[in-house]
Amino acid sequence: MNQHLSILFPNSISVHMKREDLIHPIVSGNKFRKLKYNLIQAKTENQHTVLTFGGAFSNHIAAVAFAGKEQNFKTIGIIRGEELKNKISENPTLQFAQDCGMQLEFVTREAYRQKTEHGFLENLRTKFGAFYLIPEGGTNELAIKGCEEILTIADAAFDYICCPIGTGGTITGIINSLLPHQKVLGFPALKGEFLKDEIRIFARNDKWEVITEYHFGGYGKVTSELIGFVNQFYKENKIPLDPIYTAKMVFGVMDLIDKDYFREKSKILLIHTGGIQGIQGMNLKLKEKKLLTINFDD
Ligand SMILES: *Cc1c(COP(=O)(O)O)cnc(C)c1O
Repeated sequence: MNQHLSILFPNSISVHMKREDLIHPIVSGNKFRKLKYNLIQAKTENQHTVLTFGGAFSNHIAAVAFAGKEQNFKTIGIIRGEELKNKISENPTLQFAQDCGMQLEFVTREAYRQKTEHGFLENLRTKFGAFYLIPEGGTNELAIKGCEEILTIADAAFDYICCPIGTGGTITGIINSLLPHQKVLGFPALKGEFLKDEIRIFARNDKWEVITEYHFGGYGKVTSELIGFVNQFYKENKIPLDPIYTAKMVFGVMDLIDKDYFREKSKILLIHTGGIQGIQGMNLKLKEKKLLTINFDD
């Protein structure tokens, strides 16, 4: 569903938002898309267990746990940070994953860094038996294939498609399904010049740009300005934004509109990738630091 933003923009620019967040109340829309063909592949390979990696508030961990429950896979989540082991009940994401039946395995940050190394994965196979491996963040070739289904023929009228970037899988899928007159702007939620190289591996055209000025300090970092923006955006549009990804992208697009980045009469489509499940955890952290929290009360 594409929702028209009611805010009036200069230069007859119009902005719509694709509500991928509405695919599921807890699981991020783009994570569902990234899992689709991977779970089909796991079934084809006759695998009964899916193993993946993630941090304390990972949307990907929540998505794998939920999809695994729905589709009868056993799921194992390798979680960064041993100290979280006895704090599952204090962490809404991990509690959700565990309630879905995911087996959580906590590892030190040093061990976590080896997550793509052969020896580390072999040890996991010895410990847990055979599994279908999904990388951190869910990005691989099959995930990109799933994200090629985000844009549809109904989106043909848009000139610019804007989306957040984590690992780059989502934007690559969007790039590969562009029409000739369209361009993608990606907004990394982290400090990451390397992302361009990641995107180039699977991107089938070069009609995209990575805009690196709106990471707000890095992955998972927010400022009171950004949180204020999320609250104000909700007041004006009744659309909740997640502070880790979508809010940074939307903030960036609004700022670029102010700076006359877009030509007159541009039609912009913002991709709301979801991430709403992470807000509860973010608010706990903000409250602890006595900072402004996210508030979607009317
Ligand atoms: C994971 C995630 C992203 C980033 O997607 P990538 O494919 O890793 O670039 C964006 N938004 C939300 C809500 C996410 O959960």
